[in-house]
Formats: sequence, structure tokens, C-alpha cells
Amino acid sequence: MIHLKSANVAYKGKTALSDITLHVSQGEKLALVGRSGSGKSTLLNLLYETTDKLSNDTAFVPQEYGLVQNLSVYHNVYMGQLGQHSTLYNLINLMKPFSEQVEQVSDILKNLQLSEKLFEPVAQLSGGQQQRTAIARALMHNGHFLLADEPVSSLDEMQSLLVMNLLCKQFDTIIFSLHDVDLALKFCDRIIGLDHGRVVIDDRSENLNRQQLLKLYEE
Ligand code: ADP
Ligand code: MG
Repeated sequence: MIHLKSANVAYKGKTALSDITLHVSQGEKLALVGRSGSGKSTLLNLLYETTDKLSNDTAFVPQEYGLVQNLSVYHNVYMGQLGQHSTLYNLINLMKPFSEQVEQVSDILKNLQLSEKLFEPVAQLSGGQQQRTAIARALMHNGHFLLADEPVSSLDEMQSLLVMNLLCKQFDTIIFSLHDVDLALKFCDRIIGLDHGRVVIDDRSENLNRQQLLKLYEE
């Protein structure tokens, strides 16, 4: 499903990823872990660039959420389905939301404890509420494949568990980046540890423990 072979990425000549070979099969739930700067976001962005956009099967939650600040939560969440409707339908819905879409978005927001924010501009939300809006947009997507970059970084423990459960239930194949190794062990069946842009761990979660993973974070 995903095949990278000896991939390298550099920013202005400085290496961010080196020699990454990665095969991900359908149905896998995979976590990328590693220190800040180890290359997790670069790898997720590269994977998103290489996915087939025309098939419209991939939902993406970027680390900085990618929300339109002056649009409402409703409009941002609806964007998860932009690719599934005609331009005309999307334009009409922007000006005068269709009731069936409002209903679908409301159902998703209810699960994320965001119902009362439906028509509020994203700019007026807290960081955690914005992050849940980005999650809601992914849940609105009808694809089977999810790439999510630290999707629970601004959420408390209860909300993190709720969001991880919702995402794992909806999407068949997932690649997360996670800084919380316990969440990685709990929700993912395979873990990749990155260090200075290289893969230093690639194993099934049942063969790994938190001490091994926490070593990645030692200076
Ligand atoms: P992580 O997500 O694990 O924190 P990143 O993929 O964001 O790591 O970063 C990997 C490396 O690439 C870091 O050294 C970072 O400073 C560098 N980097 C990331 N994005 C950029 C950019 N847009 N321009 C220059 N360097 C970047
Ligand atoms: Mg990152």
C-alpha cells in the first residue's frame, strides 16, 4: 500500500531524512516515534505527497492542523468531504449549508465534545478545540487511509484516548506520529523509531516496551 525505497529529504542541503525504506500494508496501524526534530513530520509529509490524490482515499491531519482560521468549525470540518462533491455543491454549501451536511458534521462534533462550536470561527477556539476540529475534518473524510501528525498533542489524557479510539475505529490503515510512547504501544501494532532522520527501530508493538522507546528521547 505504501512503498518508500531509500528515500532522502534535505532542507537547504541539511539532511532531514536519510535512506528511509518503508513498506506499509493495508490494515496496519503504525506509529512514528522519536525526539522533536527526528524527522516524523517530514516523513508524514513525504508519505502524503506520494499518495494518490485522485483516489481521494487519504485523510491527513497535519501537525499545525491546516484550518482556515476565519471560517467556522462547520466549514472546516465539511472540507473533509470537498473532494466527494461537485464544485457547485461545495459553493452552495459554503454560503447556505445543506441540512444533511450540518447533521453529519454535528454528529461528529458531538463525539468530540465540540457541538456548541458548530458555527464559531476557528480563530476563536482554544488550541485543543482547534486540534479536535482538525480531527473532525479527518473523520468527515470517507477514505480508508489516515496520516495523522501528533493528532493528540494538545489534548488531555481522556480526550486523547477518545480521539485515538475514534480514529482507529474509522480508518483501516493509519500512520500516526506520536510523542506519547504509551499511546503508540496501546493503539498501534507496529512502531518505527526515528533518530536524526534514520529508522533505528521497526518492530511490532508486542516485541517492544516503553523503556526501549524512551531511549530514543535521551540526549
Ligand atoms: P519532527 O516532526 O520529528 O519534530 P521534522 O520532520 O519537523 O521533525 O524535522 C526534521 C528536521 O528537519 C529537523 O532538523 C528540522 O529542523 C528540519 N526541518 C523541518 N522542516 C523544515 C523546514 N521547513 N525548513 C528547514 N528545515 C526544516
Ligand atoms: Mg513534527
